[in-house]
Amino acid sequence: MEFSLRYTARDFTAELPASEYTARFRDAGRIGGYCRACPNYGNSWGCPPFGFDVGEYLSGYASALLIATKIVPEERGIPLSESKRLILPERLRLEERLLEMERLYGGRSFAYVGTCLYCPEGSCTRPTGEPCRHPDKVRPSLEACGFDIGRTTTELFGMDLKWGTDGRIPEYLLLVCGFFHNAESVVWDK
Ligand code: SF4
Repeated sequence: MEFSLRYTARDFTAELPASEYTARFRDAGRIGGYCRACPNYGNSWGCPPFGFDVGEYLSGYASALLIATKIVPEERGIPLSESKRLILPERLRLEERLLEMERLYGGRSFAYVGTCLYCPEGSCTRPTGEPCRHPDKVRPSLEACGFDIGRTTTELFGMDLKWGTDGRIPEYLLLVCGFFHNAESVVWDK
């Protein structure tokens, strides 16, 4: 059966001191446990374990801008197997914009969690120990750095993460990205 993958997407933003976001929402032990149970763990350069100290990687930034993108499919009952195709255009838009934010303001961006977008699926160089083909584009997710995204969406955006039921996509999807920076102010173009 064919499903329409038309949807509306809206970005919501929240900004707070980076130290406060880290103190309130980072739980590296618990969230790291979820990462270790994921098949991507150690199999993509965008996923942990990282070859750098994550605490250090996060430090040195005054502000944390969080972006929650709410995707509302026009059609209800879309199979969960279609979720990657539904999300892909928004992931591409968000990752391009995050890299643009780095160019504009300096700082460090955190992409939406998931399979890396920049090589054909299953061809990441990490399992063979070769360097990443696109280190200029690949950014870790907030989850990969130990942040609790469920609490982030609930407490900073007033929206709960939704999970599919009966193999169907929920009424909306939320993608959460971040940008840590030292600029006086930044503008996220929606
Ligand atoms: S760009 Fe390619 S090599 Fe680098 S993390 Fe992504 S899939 Fe792996």
